[in-house]
Amino acid sequence: QPANAERDTAVFDLIAQEAERQRTGLELIASENFTSAAVREAVGSVLTNKYAEGYPGKRWYGGCEIVDQVEVLAIERAKQLFGAEWANVQPHSGSSANIAVYGALLTPGDTVLGLDLSHGGHLTHGSPVNFSGKGYTIVGYKVNADTELIDMDNVRALALEHRPQMIIAGASAYSRVIDFAAFRAIADEVGAILFADIAHIAGLVAAGLHPSPLPHAHVVASTTHKTLRGPRSGLLLSSDLDIAAKLDRAIFPGHQGGPLEHVIAGKAVAFGEALRPEFRVYSQQVIDNARAMAAEFQRLGYRVVSGGTDNHMFVLDIRPQGLNGTKATRLLDAAHITISKSTLPYDTEKILHGGGIRIGTPAVTTRGMVEADMLTIAGLIDRALKGEDVQAEVHAFAGGFPLP
Ligand code: PLP
Repeated sequence: QPANAERDTAVFDLIAQEAERQRTGLELIASENFTSAAVREAVGSVLTNKYAEGYPGKRWYGGCEIVDQVEVLAIERAKQLFGAEWANVQPHSGSSANIAVYGALLTPGDTVLGLDLSHGGHLTHGSPVNFSGKGYTIVGYKVNADTELIDMDNVRALALEHRPQMIIAGASAYSRVIDFAAFRAIADEVGAILFADIAHIAGLVAAGLHPSPLPHAHVVASTTHKTLRGPRSGLLLSSDLDIAAKLDRAIFPGHQGGPLEHVIAGKAVAFGEALRPEFRVYSQQVIDNARAMAAEFQRLGYRVVSGGTDNHMFVLDIRPQGLNGTKATRLLDAAHITISKSTLPYDTEKILHGGGIRIGTPAVTTRGMVEADMLTIAGLIDRALKGEDVQAEVHAFAGGFPLP
């Protein structure tokens, strides 16, 4: 227990409970992971005390000589990791990074073409309840009804029809490879900016296991806490220095104040970890695990959206089991198996419930689980969805895999 526990048991008891929940349960939310102790130490450090509005060497506050070095380290490692000419490590989150992209490169009311939310897109790609949908004219492209793959003919037809100023390639619930080169060809045809949002797949891109958007996209945004396994935060990358200058201004002073240098230090540590050969081994195992679990679900009679996965996650259509996302989440929560509900392409369930569940392997892979363990997990999920009480088995199984 940290010394602070004596001073504020209300908070530290809850943190201890959360640590226990993470240790005893099975974490299958596709956007979550377990950071290293080094990342957590950086985020919990005295750097949180420091104001540093501006950028390294150009701050509005004194005493920034050390945080300048921290931020430069994070920037240089991000550039190296993704092969980018420029990086901004100040976005507080994935959404903050995306807000800056819209703010830097568009005028309110401009037209944006993004993946339809119910087909796997993110809120910031044009949801009517989000800043993106409120301030911009959004056109949603869809996946093909048969293959459930992004329909590039549909993307092109909509681009030619609506002449968007920006096209977004990226998703929160899409298990297949995104063809950034094909998106760029369409963007060029209509004079649009190509914005790649790699929040989910950033770790796989960094490891060279998903094609990089960087030679193709004008701007790339990401979170740092999903497959990339860093602290909860955001990142912007580009190799177009004119666009980069606009993005820098959009982050500060456009949309943020003081950067979170403690989180930036955590990002620097995580980027350093991702540059090591072990991270590629980890990322390959994430994919192998997702494939193994998806195949096991198919063997157990479930329908996997698009028939499988190329990345860290997949979506199960659980309507044939007489369930929806809300009901399944409740059953799995009771078993201490954590997933997120998901809409399906062309869903017949209410959006509130969703006809599917999204399952991801980054977190369980960090715990050291491999393909055989994925079969065990699929079996536990199957039984929990059938109403069996498997909580004790989940605890016993998860307890065998240490957290970092
Ligand atoms: N972009 C995509 C594709 C995402 O999946 C997410 C998060 O789920 C975000 C952006 C937003 O990230 P954050 O939750 O850090 O704001």
